[in-house]
Amino acid sequence: MMDFPVERFAAGLGTRVIGRRVVFFPVLISTMIAAREEAERGAPEGTVIIAGEQTAAKGRLQRTWFSPRGALAFSVILRPKTEELPYLIMLSALSVVHSIEQVTHLKPQIKWPNDVLIDGKKVCGILIENSFRGSAVDYAIIGIGVNVNIRMANLPEVPALATSLSDEIGREVSLPELLRQQLRHMDSLYLSLGSGQPVYEEWRRRLVTLGQRVRVRAGGTVEEGIAESVAPDGSLLLRRPDGTMSKIMAGDVTLRE
Ligand code: ATP
Repeated sequence: MMDFPVERFAAGLGTRVIGRRVVFFPVLISTMIAAREEAERGAPEGTVIIAGEQTAAKGRLQRTWFSPRGALAFSVILRPKTEELPYLIMLSALSVVHSIEQVTHLKPQIKWPNDVLIDGKKVCGILIENSFRGSAVDYAIIGIGVNVNIRMANLPEVPALATSLSDEIGREVSLPELLRQQLRHMDSLYLSLGSGQPVYEEWRRRLVTLGQRVRVRAGGTVEEGIAESVAPDGSLLLRRPDGTMSKIMAGDVTLRE
């Protein structure tokens, strides 16, 4: 996405908060770094930072995220209430799922807590960073990377269980159109968040993880069991082999089937 018509895009967006300000860079190290700088400088809630290409983006736990040309890469600055924080990951994943469905008719699924998959292959990564001032939220940044028009076979660095929208449907997808739908869904989910209950319930329905046997790696420890359910705070409830339950926070864990 080298020539992104940013002004026309922002004017036609039709959202209330998300995309109030839209900034495009052909190349960035990472949209998260750029968004953090903007947020520290007082950028308004809803600012969207888009990159045509990221040269050193990171996933969770400082893992490398590959984001060449053809990928959708953006970060959104929000200034939510503390009690809204658990729902950001849920509404982000849902906005990715809905926009992909709308534009491609594929049926994406959510892998707890933050990946979007198609047929079990990762098509999108989502990252959230929160910054506090005292006990209040100063800002939260949502980072989203979607493999859109990328031949994954040309990216051998990416692990095998990954896919792109163009690989799945055999043709290219309009990046601005996908982004527009995504921001619109995010805007309406964020503005109607309320208690968070509807977003939580829809997110839970979309999780492929529930009912599966999983291995959870957190720090130095590994736990295995059945992913039985999720709680409204986003945590995973794991049934251990001895029948006891373990509550796993979405923070720094890696999940394997
Ligand atoms: P995982 O996806 O390994 O279960 P995670 O959710 O913690 O774990 P993220 O932080 O979302 O991972 O993303 C980082 C990981 O995603 C990298 O370690 C790499 O395995 C994988 N990855 C990197 N770039 C891409 C890409 N463009 N498409 C799909 N997967 C990627």
